[in-house]
Amino acid sequence: MAARVEIQNVTVMYPNGVRALDDVTLTVEPGEFVFLVGPTGHGKSTLLKLLNREEIPTRGRVLVSGWDVAALSPRRVAYLRRRVAMVFQDFRLLPNRTAWENITFALRVTGKSHRVALRRAPEALAQVGLLDKADDYPPELSAGEQQRLAIARAAAAQPELLIADEPTGSLDPHSSAQVLRLLADINADGTTVIVATHDPVIVNSLRRRVVALRKGRVVSDLREGGYPADLLEPAPSRTPRRAEAEGGEP
Ligand code: ADP
Repeated sequence: MAARVEIQNVTVMYPNGVRALDDVTLTVEPGEFVFLVGPTGHGKSTLLKLLNREEIPTRGRVLVSGWDVAALSPRRVAYLRRRVAMVFQDFRLLPNRTAWENITFALRVTGKSHRVALRRAPEALAQVGLLDKADDYPPELSAGEQQRLAIARAAAAQPELLIADEPTGSLDPHSSAQVLRLLADINADGTTVIVATHDPVIVNSLRRRVVALRKGRVVSDLREGGYPADLLEPAPSRTPRRAEAEGGEP
């Protein structure tokens, strides 16, 4: 079952006085795939953290599958976190466990039986093309393989909502495209997916809903959008080439 997400007039102020989100209202329907875009530091991670209750709103309300996230009891928070899977830029795998164990361990922690874990682990590894690496440890895998493993671990839990924070931030273009395809597959299987990124290439490669944040506010929301041109970050500054510096033809 896919989750519905409702963010209603949410402001998040951190204790240092930073207003990370400023009166954000956003609804994500069950089964949607949404890119959350905007420059670094403009509130994307904070918005995602509201959805598994790593942060709570200073003002406003966050509902996930109808639950008011800030009002949940500790037991319900644990349940919420079993239903909301996270994928991060830095993978967050267990380095001392094999690929197989990373999946079975995560499933056991979320209360699945040994039998279910043994059934789902090979399915999940096969889905991301890593069945032949089941006995490898994460440090033996490439960055792209590690992220595919992290996605397999998330998908094995059959979450209602999958949140990915800069999932391609450490990957080459080929691995990024693979990871994006896997996220789209998981979405097609019936999971709501929200991907925070400041990478226009991946956003433009998949014409999906694009919600843009700037200074903690939603500044655009496009149904089958590309990356908003006015939110592109300037390319890293380079030393002028000699020909340009000397006024010659570039
Ligand atoms: P993004 O994901 O778009 O890079 P973030 O949500 O991480 O943006 O950050 C939004 C703003 O909140 C930034 O100014 C950031 O420095 C600040 N911020 C993020 N987390 C914290 C925190 N735990 N304490 C204080 N300020 C924070």
